[in-house]
Amino acid sequence: MKAARFYDRGDIRIEEIPEPTVAPGEVGIKVAWCGICGTDLHEYKDGPVFCPTHDTPHPISGETAPVTLGHEFSGVIDELGEGVEDLEVGQHVVVEPYIIGDEVDTGPESKDYHLSPNMNFIGLAGRGGGLGERIAVKRRWVHPISDSVSLDEAALIEPLSVGYHAVERSGAKAGDVAVVGGAGPIGLLTAAVLKALGITVVVSELSSLRREKALETGVADYALDPREVDVVKEVQKITGGKGADVAFECTSVQVVLDTLMDALRPTGVLVVVSIWAERSNFDIHKLVMKEIDLRGTIAYVNSHPATIELVESGKIDLKPFITGKIGLEGLVDEGFDTLIHRNETAVKILVSPSGEGL
Ligand SMILES: [Zn+2]
Repeated sequence: MKAARFYDRGDIRIEEIPEPTVAPGEVGIKVAWCGICGTDLHEYKDGPVFCPTHDTPHPISGETAPVTLGHEFSGVIDELGEGVEDLEVGQHVVVEPYIIGDEVDTGPESKDYHLSPNMNFIGLAGRGGGLGERIAVKRRWVHPISDSVSLDEAALIEPLSVGYHAVERSGAKAGDVAVVGGAGPIGLLTAAVLKALGITVVVSELSSLRREKALETGVADYALDPREVDVVKEVQKITGGKGADVAFECTSVQVVLDTLMDALRPTGVLVVVSIWAERSNFDIHKLVMKEIDLRGTIAYVNSHPATIELVESGKIDLKPFITGKIGLEGLVDEGFDTLIHRNETAVKILVSPSGEGL
């Protein structure tokens, strides 16, 4: 079968590799669609970060580069491993793409399995990936979805779960006002979850195309250009002088963090969703004087069932976030290039590893 494999920084190859075998307790999936993520671009441009190198195996998967890429994917079950009895061949599924040690409690009550030592992702650190035609995944990480959700939209459930977990971390509730700093894919999907839960959303974003997208898709009630307006003053107006209840930092840009801090009401919650490569210069005095809760969030933990429910119930429509569909051969030249050089117009580009559906 064909797969996109990461060898090293700047070296991703589309190759023929053997099909995976489905071990006991695993589920064989024919991949339908796989989204390209900022993390994949990061591996390509600056990696390896999550991917193993060619000489140091990942401690859990035991694999070294090359590894198959792709962690945002949907597909159809085509084989059940021994002992898997609660799923059926032909069922539509998405994958919660974790590589987590066998000793870790990943049960439905766990709130921290995603923070366990050496946690990594299918499609980055081994165990196949969604940028291959087929994959075998442990039953624990396979989530069935209703046929009413199209498989292309379903590929966005993984990044939507990132937004869902960020919103969970904030404690935001219906009637609250949230400010989202940055309307890239994760900012938009976080806004989508907030709107679906009845929260008023203010997006602050430099790019006019992204602001349009936020308004057009209905995930933002207000989309502000921080060069044109004073975001803090606007938020004061919207909230009757109170300030926002929660804020989500989705840019890893210092000025955005500072603005969100000022836009929050006293005792507000600031959730940092983006990955910061540099140390931040944070005004701790402001945090103290407003009793702000600053919280990190990473990936998701038992977030898929509720996220899937938001999509199945129609509360979130993922279609408008799909801005391109390509085959595996176009991954680097069309997909990565568009996202690196023209990222304002693209939200999610989906890849069909088999070429079906294009
Ligand atoms: Zn991702």
